[in-house]
Amino acid sequence: MKLDMSFPARKYKLYATWKRDMETMHLPFPREWSHTQFNLPPNWKEVALKKMDEVVNKFRSVKLFLDICVKCGACTDKCPFFLGTLDPNNMPVARQDLFRSVYKRYFTLTGKIFRGFVGAEELTEETVELWYTYFYQCSQCRRCSVFCPYGIDTAEIMIAAREVLTAIGLSPRSLTEAIAKCETIGNHMGIPPAALLSAIQFAEEEIKEETGIEVKVPINKKGAEILYVPPSADFFGGPHWGTLKGVIKMFHQIGLDYTISTYASEGGNFGTWLGYEHMKKINRKLV
Ligand code: SF4
Ligand code: SF4
Repeated sequence: MKLDMSFPARKYKLYATWKRDMETMHLPFPREWSHTQFNLPPNWKEVALKKMDEVVNKFRSVKLFLDICVKCGACTDKCPFFLGTLDPNNMPVARQDLFRSVYKRYFTLTGKIFRGFVGAEELTEETVELWYTYFYQCSQCRRCSVFCPYGIDTAEIMIAAREVLTAIGLSPRSLTEAIAKCETIGNHMGIPPAALLSAIQFAEEEIKEETGIEVKVPINKKGAEILYVPPSADFFGGPHWGTLKGVIKMFHQIGLDYTISTYASEGGNFGTWLGYEHMKKINRKLV
């Protein structure tokens, strides 16, 4: 396998969060910025290191994973993002090292004394640019951890690392736009209750056309045995739309006592890729 040393994945920086969504979600340092111009706050380094200290001490597994990697290389070719780009920074161990090197420099004795000799690196704006580029090119699939003899979970390191990026106001729009909609309108797609109702009625009509069977979806039914909460993309378009219709047909056929809520209308959770706070917030909407 030949590595691509032109670092092709560097051009895949995700677009910046809108200022209005940062305000809606109460994210730190709401401001105008872009994926090429971060406009970091003056005290960004202090904030980042404080957050890093918090996450490595709060999540013991993360600290352990940062300390025990032996660089055996067993995970290197196991990441789909590495296989797709052949960019060495997308190897799971290299992705971890972008975070680990800064951890070593500021939070370990050997890193503080021997610096570069033990792979410790200063936290600079260039480092943060690499973090923003490569930390969001991990889908947290955890495939690499299956092949690591120590069970090091890159996904868990990335969740902690993204907490640090979020603390200095660097989160991608592809996540925050959906989360902001979920926290205000009720689902990632931003479908209000009336539109959701129309979508379900449209599904009923299509099922009638396709099968000749009249199906009625129970909406906001009190006391139903099951509350069915699909991801909101299922109400929106293909191929998810087919899943929604398939489920409605099956529930009708087996005579299930269920309901779909126009208010608890999101079964997905984009907070999973942003950080614990928003992951919990979206989860709490359902439970
Ligand atoms: S968890 Fe991240 S680094 Fe590991 S294989 Fe999946 S995408 Fe790649
Ligand atoms: S397989 Fe595990 S120990 Fe080996 S390099 Fe990857 S993360 Fe480190």
